Amino acid sequence: MSVQKSLNTDIRYIKGVGEARAKAFSKLGIATLGDLISYFPRTYEDRTVIKPISMLVPDETVCVKAMAAAAPRLTHVRKGLDLVKVRVVDEGGALELTFFNQSFVKDMIKPGETYVFYGKVTGSYRRLEMLNPVFEKEGARNITGRIMPVYRLTAGLSQNVLAAAVRQGLEACLEQLPDDLPPAVREKYRLAQARYAYENIHFPDSPEALNIARRRLIFEELFVISAAMGYMRQGRSAKKGRGLKPVDLSEFYGALPFQLTGAQRRAIEQSVGDMTRDTPMNRLVQGDVGSGKTVVAAACCWFAFKNGCQSAFMAPTEILAEQHYRSLSALLEPLGMRVGLLTGSMTAKQKREVVGQLKLGELDTVIGTHALLSESVEFFDLALVITDEQHRFGVEQRSALSSKADAPHVLVMSATPIPRTLALIIYGDLDVSIIDELPPGRQKVDTYTVSEALRERTYKFMRKLVGEGRQVFVVCPMVEESETADEDLKSAQEYAKKLQTEIFPDLKVALVHGRMKAKEKDAVMAAFAAGDIDILVSTTVIEVGVDVPNAALMVVENADRFGLSQLHQLRGRVGRGKHKSYCILFEGAGGAVSRERLKIMTETNDGFAISEADLRLRGPGDFFGSRQHGLPEMKIANLASDMDTLSKAQEAAQALLKADPGLTLPENRALREKIERLFEMKSATLN
Ligand code: ADP
Ligand code: MG
Repeated sequence: MSVQKSLNTDIRYIKGVGEARAKAFSKLGIATLGDLISYFPRTYEDRTVIKPISMLVPDETVCVKAMAAAAPRLTHVRKGLDLVKVRVVDEGGALELTFFNQSFVKDMIKPGETYVFYGKVTGSYRRLEMLNPVFEKEGARNITGRIMPVYRLTAGLSQNVLAAAVRQGLEACLEQLPDDLPPAVREKYRLAQARYAYENIHFPDSPEALNIARRRLIFEELFVISAAMGYMRQGRSAKKGRGLKPVDLSEFYGALPFQLTGAQRRAIEQSVGDMTRDTPMNRLVQGDVGSGKTVVAAACCWFAFKNGCQSAFMAPTEILAEQHYRSLSALLEPLGMRVGLLTGSMTAKQKREVVGQLKLGELDTVIGTHALLSESVEFFDLALVITDEQHRFGVEQRSALSSKADAPHVLVMSATPIPRTLALIIYGDLDVSIIDELPPGRQKVDTYTVSEALRERTYKFMRKLVGEGRQVFVVCPMVEESETADEDLKSAQEYAKKLQTEIFPDLKVALVHGRMKAKEKDAVMAAFAAGDIDILVSTTVIEVGVDVPNAALMVVENADRFGLSQLHQLRGRVGRGKHKSYCILFEGAGGAVSRERLKIMTETNDGFAISEADLRLRGPGDFFGSRQHGLPEMKIANLASDMDTLSKAQEAAQALLKADPGLTLPENRALREKIERLFEMKSATLN
């Protein structure tokens, strides 16, 4: 038995892992033995089938147990090409093995000895061959005769090196592997022990053992996340909130420039109803882009105002905060409310003024960005906190705003319809209002997925629409994932220049990008909204919010770079007015694969269907295009297909937290430590 090491032991402890390999491992996110054994295989290769040579079929990949009939022959064909050939036999047949550029094989295979070879059968029935098989002495069962893991690799690491390292890592820490699942939970849900699961997820004894291991690890992952989220939420729901007094909404309704949809009215009544109770509101308003969520927020702010309290409304970008500020002040100021704006790009003097007014209660509602979270921001009497495009904020940021008051009512809004599973994990037991009805007059945006071949036609179409008085959005994301923000910006700049000088010299093309100052951005957006710009090229800053009813075409370059939900958001920027609108998606380098995925966009305009598909295809990690939704990356669970396990894991986590809210019992210690590690990691990645 080897000396047992802790999970925090540096990866270089492993024999054969020096500086260079440690670097390669770190590219895969592996720094410690714990990381290593949690680096689960991407898939498996079934090497369990051992066939007699006489039963082999060309093109199959199998194991053969055979004896070397003669000494291997090494031939030097030409510079850079060495061949080792050896004939092996079993009772019923013979097989010719060829190894390319592996001259060392010559000394490894001894005539008269029996080995197990694993590889692809080639040649014909008359003369069966195998090229470059892996092999070992019969009975070894290290790399043949079993199910082998297949890992996601990076330059400098091969499957063999990785598997060998994992094997050593397991040996080094298996004996004292902490079990994050409390024994009672393991028993209740009939889950394997950690040790068994980690061994068999990498080197399964059988397909059944692999299933048992997977089941346990998926459960564990979902359980730990559920418990972590629940642990963080604790305390908040226990707090007593302030019940506001009911107010007749007709004054507010009467001030609106339009008739509310039934879904909007329902969402408003549900939210306002929540605020009259003495448990704080904890509600998510979900609605497709353009479904009219802002007015729900406005109604809640007005309701708080009628109760003599303040409200705060946080948006993820300056453009969006400013847009909300404009629409809310237009609506609410005539009703006697004092509405303020607080963003990072305001001058220190402007900020000081708003902060002062908030503290003295001279503003009834404030709309802003992260700037609202600043410590200097205090409220006179804050009762309601609203966050828009909610998933763009981390868990900590959301709670930072709420902590500016004692148990305020909380309303969160999301235009990315979040699949129920994900919503459950992120928000736990929150209430949900769904706005599933678009304001009248909205039309379906015709969507097309196109290849480069249609570029000229697309330009023609852009010209035609502009000729009819419409405006066009063009979004160009970064071209290479590894590219820096600088290069990203450069490619957008070059692209915009090309459109202006070469393609549309007679039209007005402008560029807006994430690194412009808020003022400059605002100026460009304002010019576009005023119709002074025909074609607006952007990186992704227009993704949320902006409302330009005259824009009738959205062109997305390299659409394969986006998640479907993001594309749906982008598409929602058009079709907001009375004009027939279109969305053209260039499929980018992804080719057929991305075409298949993007097809969903052409088939449906239903944000929920799209988000479910997105979750299924890309997993939650990529769901919002960035990992800002506050969830750690899933290593093994799949939120789309492991829905049943998720509900059990949540049930188990809730029961556990109810019995031991602080996770202080000895049997829950490993879990608490795991949760603390998760959050440390998370706060390091959130900024
Ligand atoms: P989102 O849900 O994407 O946040 P908004 O609240 O920004 O949608 O609303 C989109 C546009 O629709 C805004 O211009 C808003 O004034 C308008 N709008 C909202 N509700 C209605 C309605 N019931 N009838 C007509 N227009 C509406
Ligand atoms: Mg909105």
